[in-house]
Amino acid sequence: MRKFNFSSGPSVLPLPVLQQAAAGLLELEHHGVSVAEISHRSRLFTDLLNELISLFRELLHLGPEHEVIILQGGARLQFAQIPMNFLKPSETAGFIDTGYWAHKAMEYAACYGQVITIGSSADQGYHIIPEISDLPHQLTYVQLTTNNTIYGTQYQELPKMAVPLIADMSSDLLSITRDFSAIDFAFACAQKNVGPAGVSVAIVKRSFLEKAHDQLPPVFSYKNLVAHHSNYATPPVVNVYMSLLNLRWLKGQGGVAAVEKINEEKAALLYNEIERNRLFNCPVVPAHRSRMNVCFFAKEKNTELAFLDFCHEKNIVGIEGHKAAGGLRASIYNAQSLENVAYLAKVMQQFEQQHASTVYY
Ligand code: PMP
Repeated sequence: MRKFNFSSGPSVLPLPVLQQAAAGLLELEHHGVSVAEISHRSRLFTDLLNELISLFRELLHLGPEHEVIILQGGARLQFAQIPMNFLKPSETAGFIDTGYWAHKAMEYAACYGQVITIGSSADQGYHIIPEISDLPHQLTYVQLTTNNTIYGTQYQELPKMAVPLIADMSSDLLSITRDFSAIDFAFACAQKNVGPAGVSVAIVKRSFLEKAHDQLPPVFSYKNLVAHHSNYATPPVVNVYMSLLNLRWLKGQGGVAAVEKINEEKAALLYNEIERNRLFNCPVVPAHRSRMNVCFFAKEKNTELAFLDFCHEKNIVGIEGHKAAGGLRASIYNAQSLENVAYLAKVMQQFEQQHASTVYY
């Protein structure tokens, strides 16, 4: 039996995607070879890679001003690769501090140039998306995290910037409609809404790409990767294939706008239950609540541990909060069905009934 998996990533994938991937591992779509056995230079693979890139373009409504790059590794590699390409030692990048991943991104960029914080919600426990202070003197770019996987906050609208905007979309790409014309560089690791861990995607405006440095080892150079159509060093062939299957699935669901509606429904269902339930609370400011990672707490620590045991009995896994934030977290990415979210809400109600004597005011 498949468990109810609320893990933050690697996370649940649609069952038909897993079934097709399992078949493809034995034999890729009647070609007589496993997908793990094909050369990355073969027509078989380049067709799959090009289809994946085309699907990103189609699903995100990208115009000719954007390039899509399929990359090896995860989001942290992008934390380094971005400043390698775009930041000089004398230049400054501004970061919006929304917590853990923003800190990591700053730490990595500081290896290549100057970094400053241009807004922070540290004082509010990262339970809100911060206001931006006036942009100081010439910043080379501003970087933000659209969805904060650990604290459960999310930008609904991205701020307008007078300098290039870079967005870490690791945990909400393909789940919400975004206006890419206002974003110079977006990136995401795969292991939430794209596919299995080990592959990432970047969406870069050509005008911004032109500013990338040329003196880089080619494997790190975005210009070089674009010139080689994302097929320079051997790509993670199986992960590319699984991501393609997942994007085909997403297209079959009606695309980003269609799943966005369901994502809103799923999030509303869960936040409503947290508000209603006497045992739990959500500290995130309602207007900034994430539709992907619902972070909440039991009002009493012992109740939290008992709830985790209860979830275990009910076949719910992956619901512990990140170690940096504590508490509980239900990740409800595209592949998480409304039925599974309703099941979790029902389990929360059953738990409340069992603990009816524990009433907090
Ligand atoms: N940014 C965000 C928003 C994330 O959620 C994560 C991973 N959960 C990362 C960056 C880091 O990703 P990776 O482990 O692939 O480096």
